[in-house]
Amino acid sequence: MTRERDLIAWIWRGYLRGHWLKVSAALGLMALEGGMLGLLSYMVKPMFDQVFVAGDRSAVVWVAFGVAGVFGIRALAGFGHRVLMAVVGRRISAQMQSNLLRHMLTLDASYFRDNSPGTLIERVRGDTRVVSSIWSAVLGAAGRDTVALVSLLAVALSVDWLWTLIAVAGAPLLMLPIAMLQRLVRRTTRAARSAAAVISTRLDETFHGINTIKLNGIEEHDRSRFDAVLDRFVGAELRAAAGQAGIPALIDVVAAIGFFGVLVYGGFQIIDGEKSVGEFMSFFTAMALVFEPLRRLGNVSGTWQVAAASLERLHGVFEERPTILSPARPRAVKAEDADVVFEEVSFSYDRDPVLSGLSFTARAGETTALVGPSGAGKSTVFALITRLIEPQSGRVALGETGVEEVDLEALRDRISVVSQETLLFDDTIRENILLGRTDVDDETLREVIEAAHVADFLDGLPRGLDTPAGPRGANLSGGQRQRVAIARALLRDTPILLLDEATSALDAASEAAVQEALERLSQGRTTLVIAHRLSTIQDADRIVVMERGRVVDQGRHEELLARGGLYADLHRLQFAGS
Ligand code: ADP
Repeated sequence: MTRERDLIAWIWRGYLRGHWLKVSAALGLMALEGGMLGLLSYMVKPMFDQVFVAGDRSAVVWVAFGVAGVFGIRALAGFGHRVLMAVVGRRISAQMQSNLLRHMLTLDASYFRDNSPGTLIERVRGDTRVVSSIWSAVLGAAGRDTVALVSLLAVALSVDWLWTLIAVAGAPLLMLPIAMLQRLVRRTTRAARSAAAVISTRLDETFHGINTIKLNGIEEHDRSRFDAVLDRFVGAELRAAAGQAGIPALIDVVAAIGFFGVLVYGGFQIIDGEKSVGEFMSFFTAMALVFEPLRRLGNVSGTWQVAAASLERLHGVFEERPTILSPARPRAVKAEDADVVFEEVSFSYDRDPVLSGLSFTARAGETTALVGPSGAGKSTVFALITRLIEPQSGRVALGETGVEEVDLEALRDRISVVSQETLLFDDTIRENILLGRTDVDDETLREVIEAAHVADFLDGLPRGLDTPAGPRGANLSGGQRQRVAIARALLRDTPILLLDEATSALDAASEAAVQEALERLSQGRTTLVIAHRLSTIQDADRIVVMERGRVVDQGRHEELLARGGLYADLHRLQFAGS
C-alpha cells in the first residue's frame, strides 16, 4: 500500500502542477462561492430584525438587493469553478491514460503474460476514470466548503458563542466511526476495482474465444462465471457505497443533537427577550447551512478513499520497471553481423529449464531450420533472438555482437518475424502492410504485394487494398493473413528473418502461394524457420534438431536421414501419417 502522502505528491508533481493556474482560479471561485453562504446567513439578521420585526420599509430594498446579489455571485462563481475543474479533470485523465500506455509499452513481455489484457484495459480506462472525477470533489471541499464552514461558524459565533459550542458539541464523537468507515470504504473499493479487472478479463476472453464457446456449447458456463464475478463486484461496490453513505448520515446525527440543544436552550432566551428573533434566525440559518459543507467535507474523505484505491493501482503500474533495456552505451550493429549465434544458452521461465546449454549458428544468408517435437524450445529461440526474453546464461549474438549490447530498437529493426498467429490490426490491408510508414511509394508497395501474393486475393475483396481487415484480421483467411505478414516483412527488408511456419490447414492453392512468397522473402537473408512440416525444409542449408532444449543433431536433410536419429524418426512419423 502506497502512502497517501506519496500518492498526493506524485499526482501534484505529475499532473496537477501543470494546471496550477486553472486550479488556483477554481479555488478562488470556490472560496467566493463558499463565502457567499456565510454572507447569506448574516443577511438573515437584518431581514428579520429590521424588515419583519421593526417594519422598516427603507430596509426592504437593500436587503432584497443584498440577498439577490449574494445568489448572483454564487451562481457565477459556481459556474466558473465547475467548468474549470471539468477541464482539469478530463485533461488529467487523458494525460494519465496516455502516460500509462507509453509506460506499459516499455515493459517486458513477461508483464503482459502476468497481467491479462482485461486487467490492463481496466487500469487504463476504469481507474483513470475514477481518478478524474475526484479533483472537483477534493478541491471543492478545500476551497468552497472550508471557507463556507469558517464563514458560517464566524456568523454563528458572532451571534452567540455558547450556542455555537452546544451545536457542535457532538462533532468529536464522529472521529472514530468516520475513521473506521474510511478504512472500510478503501478496502471494499480496492476489492471492487480488482473485481472490475476480472470482469474486463472475462469479457475479453469471451469475445476472443466466442467460437470455442459456441462450439463447445459452454455459453451457460461462461455466463455463470461472468455472473459470479459480477456478484462479487456489485457486493464490493455496495459495501463501499454503504460506507460512503454512512459518513454524511453520522454528521446528520450530530446535527440533530446540536439543533436539539440549541433550540431548547436558545428558545427560552428568546421567549425571555434576551435575544432577538433575527439573531436566532441568523444563527439557525448559519447552523442549517453549516451541516451541508460539513457533510460534503465528511464525504470527501470517502470519495478520496475510493480514488486512492485506483491511484494506488495506477502508481503501481508506473512503478513497474522493464528489465530488458537498451544498454547505456550501445554498440553499433555492423552490416556484416548477420549470423545468428547461440552459445551455451540456458533459459527457464520458472524452474523447469526450457533451454539447456543450447548452441548453434545460423549462417548469414542461409536458411536454418529448427526441428523438434512440440515443447522442444523452438519458439523460445525466436524470443531470445528478438530479446523479448533474456537468457539466464550463455550468449545470443548477431555475428560478433551480443544482442544485449546493441540498442533494442536497432536490434529489432534488423529482424522480421512472420509467425503462425499473425496479428493484423483492425485497419485497412494497406495500413496493415505499411504499419504507419509514410516513405513507401506506390511502386514499391505494388511490388511487395505482388511478391507476397497479396495481389492474388485483392480483386476478390470489396475495396481492394483499402478493405478493412476486421478485428485481429477476422475478415481474412489464415492464408491471406499470412501473406499480409509476408508483405510486411518484405517491406521491412531486414537482413534476418524468423519464420514460424504455418501448420494451420491452408488450402493447397493458398499453401503454394504462401510457400512461394516465403521462398522469395528468405532469399539473401539469414533465415531461421521453425519447421513443422519436414517436407518444406528439405532444401534448408542446415537443419538443427532440438529436443528438450538441447541441440541433438544438425546437418543437411540427407545427412540427418542417413544418421537415423530423432530427425529420421520424425520424418518417418510424418510421412507415415500423411
Ligand atoms: P516449441 O516452440 O518448440 O513448441 P516453446 O519454445 O514454445 O516450444 O516452449 C518450450 C517450453 O517452454 C514448453 O515446455 C512450454 O511449456 C514452456 N513455456 C513456453 N512459454 C511459457 C511461459 N510463458 N511460461 C512458462 N512456460 C512456458
